[in-house]
Amino acid sequence: MSAPAEFDLIARIRARAGGRDDVVLGIGDDAALLAPPPGRQLVVAMDMLNEGVHFPQGTTPADLGWKALAVNLSDLAAMGAEPAWCTLALSLPCADAAWIDAFLDGFRGLAARHGVALVGGDTTRGPLSACVTVHGFVAPGTALRRDAARIGDDVWVSGTLGDAAAALSRLSADDAPPGSEAAHASAALRTRLDRPTPRVELGRALVGVARACIDVSDGLLADLGHVCRASGVGARLDLATLPASIALRALFDAASRAPLQCAGGDDYELCFTAPEAARDNVLHAAQMARTPVTRIGRVVEGEGVVVVDASGMPWQPPRVGYVHFD
Ligand code: ADP
Ligand code: MG
Repeated sequence: MSAPAEFDLIARIRARAGGRDDVVLGIGDDAALLAPPPGRQLVVAMDMLNEGVHFPQGTTPADLGWKALAVNLSDLAAMGAEPAWCTLALSLPCADAAWIDAFLDGFRGLAARHGVALVGGDTTRGPLSACVTVHGFVAPGTALRRDAARIGDDVWVSGTLGDAAAALSRLSADDAPPGSEAAHASAALRTRLDRPTPRVELGRALVGVARACIDVSDGLLADLGHVCRASGVGARLDLATLPASIALRALFDAASRAPLQCAGGDDYELCFTAPEAARDNVLHAAQMARTPVTRIGRVVEGEGVVVVDASGMPWQPPRVGYVHFD
């Protein structure tokens, strides 16, 4: 990118980076200087969003800014970490100040909610892409890991499932008349796709309560499958218990909801396991975090995730989740 344009863009980014006491030196030098709190472990995650792969063409810059940070905060949430800092690598087809400002509106809107400072990054010309790294803290040994599920644990999920995948499925075929109930429901689904809510407070509240935890980014079955593999266990889920939003229920019948809830991506809910004896503690944590949680099944002996319908028959998903390079 030509020097003046890049300089101007970085100045715009710097103006809205947000600050924290533990940022000794933020944007502007060759690297950031950060002061991690003594006695805590550093938790680091990175997620990249590419146009046409991770977000549809036509996604507004403000929504993209929000989502680029949200998907990363979701990873920290799944570890039970307290977010602190982030870096941002942007690849842009052209140096566009208005685009950067709008992107930062979305990005900063979410960063401010969680007290996250933007401490550095890189800005280059290329296909539209945003890559964020987040840093957070946990007390040593308390992170919520994928390998900690135990046979007999309950399986829980936060919020509702399937909305983002439902929005994607309606992108090219949304026939809801403007102003109608269906149009409202459709817009609610689209908001869940564009502005996912990272469950940061819930993740932190589950430290010491939950055992294994993962965020649902590629679909419930695929992601819970990762927990099962890492923990050397299986899981059995009750299809009828999977939480669905009002909007999803308004637009999709039970049969068409199921694949969206089980295999749709981009939910950014937390799926976690906890001992049966911890049910009250889980509900208390959810209340503290003001985040609804639903018990959806059990950790069992064996391997893989089995979903059973209301009559106890195994239900087969049409596909398990989103796989890159398939
Ligand atoms: P260098 O050539 O040393 O990498 P840059 O011109 O790329 O320097 O970056 C200058 C400063 O601006 C650095 O502190 C860098 O971290 C920051 N920066 C560049 N791009 C971004 C961005 N997209 N978001 C946040 N900070 C950025
Ligand atoms: Mg650089």
